[in-house]
Amino acid sequence: MARRRQLYEGKAKILFEGPEPGTLVQYFKDDATAFNAQKKGTITGKGVLNNRISEYLMLRLGEIGIPTHFIRRLNMREQLIREVEIIPLEVVVRNIAAGSISQRLGIQEGTRLPRSIVEYYYKNDQLGDPLVCEEHITAFGWASTQDLDDMVGLALRVNDFLSGLFLGVGILLVDFKLEFGRLWENDEMRIVLADEISPDNCRLWDAKTGEKMDKDRFRRDLGRVEEGYQEVARRLGILPEAGVRDLKGPELMQ
Ligand code: UDP
Repeated sequence: MARRRQLYEGKAKILFEGPEPGTLVQYFKDDATAFNAQKKGTITGKGVLNNRISEYLMLRLGEIGIPTHFIRRLNMREQLIREVEIIPLEVVVRNIAAGSISQRLGIQEGTRLPRSIVEYYYKNDQLGDPLVCEEHITAFGWASTQDLDDMVGLALRVNDFLSGLFLGVGILLVDFKLEFGRLWENDEMRIVLADEISPDNCRLWDAKTGEKMDKDRFRRDLGRVEEGYQEVARRLGILPEAGVRDLKGPELMQ
């Protein structure tokens, strides 16, 4: 079989040309980076788990009417997605203070925020993805006011839905990062959720013990990194014990 054309290689994923125009294949690697790629490593099995976790979450979000780029999972490490024009912003939603907001504003990690806070970061590795505000975004033409309204509206719906979904399996959704893309259908453009949603870009804490089950285990050398990702998949009911036929639904916690 002819090797598919690779279009882009990122830190955790590779994009290949898809089988039909307007589609791409997203391949999930085990590579992990942190602190703007200053720290590099491998988390064995991460790609397989993130492929499944992201598939599961994008499908559930699709069911409540959130438009996403996801089409279907192809195999252990690949999914078919719609080709979109990525908006060069990382949209972060926070429910509990952690990471950069704790450092920047001196808020103790674990403090519940007065309300969900949405932040924007400009996607630029050379600059280390700086925090930006609406003025920068519209002045430099990265997105319009309408695009931002759409993105914030979607991000808050995603937050409400995923907070409830994770809480149902005993996990606190502390914060997460989303990316959006523009999808054209005929002459109409709409903003859709792109990239992935996984423990690589969410902070997920055990609701009872506060134990971290996300990439912070890698960033902060907490050990048992693989186990964190596996536990998230297990609780969502998508960690097959005996192959793909063994899929169960989510396990509700009391
Ligand atoms: N995040 C991400 N990619 C980035 C930066 C952040 O996915 O390039 C996610 C991160 O996993 C966390 C949230 O966005 O869930 C907020 O991250 P924060 O700003 O606290 O930065 P960090 O402490 O991760 O550097």
